[in-house]
Amino acid sequence: MPDSAARGERVLHGIPASRGVCRGRLFVVRPAEVREPPRYAIQPEDVQSEMDRLEAALVLSRQQLRKLKEQVAQALGQQEALLFEAQLMVLEDPVLLEGVRTLVRDSLVNVDHAFATVAQRFVASFAAMQDDYLKERAADVRDATQRVLHNLLNPDEPQDLSEIREPCILVAHDLTPSQTAVLDRQMILGFATDLGSQTSHTAILARAMHLPAVTGLRDATQRLATGDYALLDGFNGLLIVNPTDQTLYQYGQLARQYQVLEERLREVRELPAVTLDGHRITLSANIENPAEADEVVAQGAEGVGLFRTEFLFMERLELPSEEEQFEVYRGLAEKLHPAPVIIRTLDLGGDKMLNYRDQYPERNPFLGWRAIRICLAEPEMFRAQLRAILRAAVTGNVKMMYPMISGIDEVDQANALLEQCKAELEKEGLPFDRDLEVGVMIEIPSAVLTAEAIARRVRFFSIGTNDLVQYSLAADRLNPRIAHLHQPTHPAVVRLIKQTIDAGHAAGIWVGVCGEMAGDPALAALLIGLGADELSVAPPLVPAVKHLIRSLKLSEARQLADFALKEENTGAILEACQELARRADPKLFVARPPAAPDSSGGKP
Ligand code: PEP
Ligand code: MG
Repeated sequence: MPDSAARGERVLHGIPASRGVCRGRLFVVRPAEVREPPRYAIQPEDVQSEMDRLEAALVLSRQQLRKLKEQVAQALGQQEALLFEAQLMVLEDPVLLEGVRTLVRDSLVNVDHAFATVAQRFVASFAAMQDDYLKERAADVRDATQRVLHNLLNPDEPQDLSEIREPCILVAHDLTPSQTAVLDRQMILGFATDLGSQTSHTAILARAMHLPAVTGLRDATQRLATGDYALLDGFNGLLIVNPTDQTLYQYGQLARQYQVLEERLREVRELPAVTLDGHRITLSANIENPAEADEVVAQGAEGVGLFRTEFLFMERLELPSEEEQFEVYRGLAEKLHPAPVIIRTLDLGGDKMLNYRDQYPERNPFLGWRAIRICLAEPEMFRAQLRAILRAAVTGNVKMMYPMISGIDEVDQANALLEQCKAELEKEGLPFDRDLEVGVMIEIPSAVLTAEAIARRVRFFSIGTNDLVQYSLAADRLNPRIAHLHQPTHPAVVRLIKQTIDAGHAAGIWVGVCGEMAGDPALAALLIGLGADELSVAPPLVPAVKHLIRSLKLSEARQLADFALKEENTGAILEACQELARRADPKLFVARPPAAPDSSGGKP
């Protein structure tokens, strides 16, 4: 139950996921399931008004779906918008609608109850079908009927994020890519979610949008209500409901410091990422969407160090064809040419699921059917991507890397498929890059321990610290209850990174880091000291990391790394990193507000 009626300042503690401060009204997204409507008897003379209510809810639902279809078509393409076409068809289904009308007329019950009852049966009958295609339609039927039910029960409460009319702080249990695709970005001041961490989709999206975000607030959606007034502090991971004048004043000052910092950082965008003693680092950007290419250039990155291609595959009804992928990769490569674009092959699974295939539920999705494992088991899908990348590589400076490599077998199998694709393209006479530079992500401890052998098979390593930390410390990266265990400065992680870099260098290949660790200026110093050649970070973080690199000597970063490799204590390593960064430029760090008491009812 929302307890927003209780006035007075309340502070909810979460995980700082994207820097910045904002304040405004909350818009709380309720989970999709609609409550079971109550059942009550009606009089025969009420039947018509119940039918009218049903008609009004159907009209509203159709309008909403048509609008969503248009918005998704614009944001993600026609193919993705078909999802809503299928739902519109559900709302015309005579079996469903007649079933509801008959139940109301014959049993004299309220229309919400009748609709919920018939819809439930309808969903169950689709789910039980033998035919895979029809079985998958159960999800469309469920979504469409829940929309009608919501409109019957709460016709005035918007249920689509695209219907938000005033700028607000979006509070959600979690946000999916399909929800965020239809967001009107002008209407969003910041994000606050129950789930998630610094490396979840919401966090990555918020950083790309330059909006403050706090994740891991646990039960914020239960405790807060749309319309509550709050301040969101993305530096310190706080959501402060009903902030006092004193709090607002303190944050006003903090916002001014942040603005000054942003202005200073603008100056370094055009300059190279070189340390005071002349050591050059390649500073690239991570993107999920080709539309971010302009941002990569605007923020002063030297190319794309990680293009997460899975977002081309999600929220749609079928796989993107080789041709469609080729066009996307080619467009990006041409736009950024001569800067490099590192395309990562599909990393589906874990928290990035597909719409159009049977999702066999897994108990441990991060340890399951994910990334290269799916690609090697479904070579047709993988080959379409490999061929598209090989072909796009002639139009720009394209490199490719495989995610989630656990050892040499996967690299050998993937490379063998790549060679087959090259032979096919050769035969077909299609232009492609015979010498495509291929690397791997190092993000599983077994890959670190066999990095020497892997290095002989590829031309670069890119360390994925988000997963490397998750897998080496056995700490689910999405679980807010153990977010405090996601520690990139854990001595084990520091040593794994060092071992990877040394193995790469011994084999004569370059080593980059593309996990979120690289985007934290203090930790970037440690990575440079450990020998990283390239750092790839969210576009808005490029200026701060570049400024840090330009304010520091390689010799200082190496001293820091030497210390970290000997130190046993995670906290001591983190403090040493922060101290060096603060020494390099104290202004790089926005001050914390005075300690806010935790009134969130427990430790985050
Ligand atoms: C990582 O694991 O660090 C990484 C960059 O990949 P992703 O966050 O997409 O898993
Ligand atoms: Mg990863």
